[in-house]
Amino acid sequence: MSNPRYQSPKGVHDILPDDHLYFSFIKKVVRHHCRRAGFRRISTPIFEDVEVFKRSIGESSDIVEKEMFLFESKSGKKYALKPEGTAGVVRAYLEHGLSNLPKPVEFYYIEPHFRYNRPQKGRYRQFHQFGFEVLGESDPAIDAQVIYISHRINYDLGIADRLTLQLNTIGSSEDRKQYREDLVNYYTGKERSLCEDCKRRMYENPMRLLDCKEEDCQILASMAPKLESVLSEESKEHFSLLQEYLTELGVKYELNPTLVRGLDYYTHTVFEFWSKKEGSQNATGGGGRYDGLVELMGGESTPAIGYAAGMERIVEYMKEAGIRPPNKDKVEVFVAQLGLVAKKKSLSLINELRNLGINTVGAIGKSSMKGQMGLADKLNAKYSLILGQIEVQEGTIILRNMEKGSQEIVPYEGIVEKMKTLLGEKKLSSKKLWEE
Ligand code: AMP
Repeated sequence: MSNPRYQSPKGVHDILPDDHLYFSFIKKVVRHHCRRAGFRRISTPIFEDVEVFKRSIGESSDIVEKEMFLFESKSGKKYALKPEGTAGVVRAYLEHGLSNLPKPVEFYYIEPHFRYNRPQKGRYRQFHQFGFEVLGESDPAIDAQVIYISHRINYDLGIADRLTLQLNTIGSSEDRKQYREDLVNYYTGKERSLCEDCKRRMYENPMRLLDCKEEDCQILASMAPKLESVLSEESKEHFSLLQEYLTELGVKYELNPTLVRGLDYYTHTVFEFWSKKEGSQNATGGGGRYDGLVELMGGESTPAIGYAAGMERIVEYMKEAGIRPPNKDKVEVFVAQLGLVAKKKSLSLINELRNLGINTVGAIGKSSMKGQMGLADKLNAKYSLILGQIEVQEGTIILRNMEKGSQEIVPYEGIVEKMKTLLGEKKLSSKKLWEE
């Protein structure tokens, strides 16, 4: 419809069947790599008590300050649609005593998320992320593994060569106390050149000034003292070991001292995958260590690291790279019929074929034979099986190869076997789905 009466809300999109091919493929690749690495899937609710996000993400973050979708229950309880995945996972980890599982505890998720921001290309109000969280291990080898899996997923999706891995350390919270002071000293007296957001954040969270996108703020940020100068020996050692491990794993990275990530909870390693193309909305994913978060949320001190990637942006880059995900929706057999008896027979034939794993569509409506065959063409079916009154009487069926345009009359008995052979042995499965 060119001028529909209703439209989806601003910044929120339908995923139409052609795009679902991409989403399904991404999920498949993510599930494959996560399972291989022993990660188990977790889903947290789409909304949580707003305090879960405020506490974990931090009051001075963009997300908490202005990007949450907030609502109240009838009893006045305040909730927020989840803007990111880590807070909910940590809440669930503590609520269900998952800290008793053997360490490290490894989860992955594939979920919709919601942020109230200005919609633009690559930035939406509902978007989908997959991500993983590894809790209970502080060794930098874990950081290297998480980064490797993230990279490997990009590689299997065909977009790794369009991205660069940006890597930095933001040290421990102790290191940062000192650094905060250095930054406040540096920015004092320069307030007039800062944007309104940065002026406000200067005392609350001065590190946020380093990743401001305003030009004047960026110029000041480039001359600000570097965190490196206050890193403890331990933090330096963590970061240099991580780099050695990444080199060992053959993962290329670029050191980026201005990468701080927007969320308060990060410590030590932070990383993002950036497109090589110019533009600000170009990261496909990012993550880092959050050693202090579990304790902040009321648990025992627990080192942890996570990663989250945006599926809409990945789809965009896959399309740009000309990647076509495999189409498992293709119609393999179209069953056409004429007359009541033929229709009854075709109903069970369709089901028999489907139960064998063959994608089968039948024209069950009242359409003429010409109409049905037109539909078979439009659906790009590989084969058509045509059952008319004569075929029913004679115990035969017409088998038409739609690609070649040739057809033959074959006995009805044994047609299912014949289709199995024609469509290849891989289809042979009368097992129940959960047995596969
Ligand atoms: P973040 O944790 O904010 O860095 O988000 C991780 C990834 O999720 C980003 O690199 C994006 O690919 C994606 N993402 C975050 N916010 C949005 C959004 N509003 N719309 C679409 N994708 C997003």
